[in-house]
Amino acid sequence: MGLIGTHISIAGGFDKAIYRGEQLQCEVIQFFSKNQLQWRSSPPTVGQISSFMKAWSESSIFEVLVHASYLINLAASGPLNVKSIRALIDEIYRCQTLGISTLVLHPGSHTDCTLDEGLQRVAVNLARVLEQTEGTDVMIALETMAGQGNSLGFRLEHLGYIMSFLDWDDRLKICLDTAHLFAAGYELRTKESYDRFMKLLDRDFGYYRIACWHFNDSKREKGSRVDRHENLGEGQIGLGIFEMILSDDTWNHIPCVLETPKTGPGDAANLAILRKLRGS
Ligand SMILES: [Zn+2]
Ligand SMILES: [Zn+2]
Repeated sequence: MGLIGTHISIAGGFDKAIYRGEQLQCEVIQFFSKNQLQWRSSPPTVGQISSFMKAWSESSIFEVLVHASYLINLAASGPLNVKSIRALIDEIYRCQTLGISTLVLHPGSHTDCTLDEGLQRVAVNLARVLEQTEGTDVMIALETMAGQGNSLGFRLEHLGYIMSFLDWDDRLKICLDTAHLFAAGYELRTKESYDRFMKLLDRDFGYYRIACWHFNDSKREKGSRVDRHENLGEGQIGLGIFEMILSDDTWNHIPCVLETPKTGPGDAANLAILRKLRGS
């Protein structure tokens, strides 16, 4: 069975995210390890690290993921390129310090070049980052994107290109976001389409490359390339896909993390739906 959880705020300290997760009976949580809209951040203090580690080890949370800042764009050129590489390296060391092994990253956005050039820039910059963080065991999970604006990674082929450019480095993984995949045009609503998608994953990547799922319904229709998350069962995807994933042994122990709106029904209601679909 997949591990169920949600994206959580670290307001008040990293340990508070663990407590919030426990209150919601999460088995996994994801957070931004700093303000995701600011470049600068001070490193976690020894006190913050130890209270987080203590809270985590005493909790029933199996895994913690970090989502990298939205500011990082590995397809950028000039000063933004330098800043992005530096920020990503910093994110990796923050994960390492906190004992977290998976960092979810948006591949990037090609604002001043073609899509192909953008993918190449991402691959070249990722190579630098991997080299400069050699020796850490933090994996980078490239997230599948909806394809809004100039974002890269809305086709699995994009991720395949980046990974093959980097010789299928062991530290590169994939994060599959249901809302993004659907908005990008992947059909996920029927058993037949799910089986087809699974075959594609197996053929092009192997299931072991998948670090986690992001569980979101989509406000907009299939192929819209608009990135708007919706509460489970209230969007265009429906609940079927989540039930299929949660009842598929392929995803045993794989984090399935909600990024549904915090307003409205909220985390507790969306998590309850997942527990029901999973049967526990
Ligand atoms: Zn994301
Ligand atoms: Zn996501």
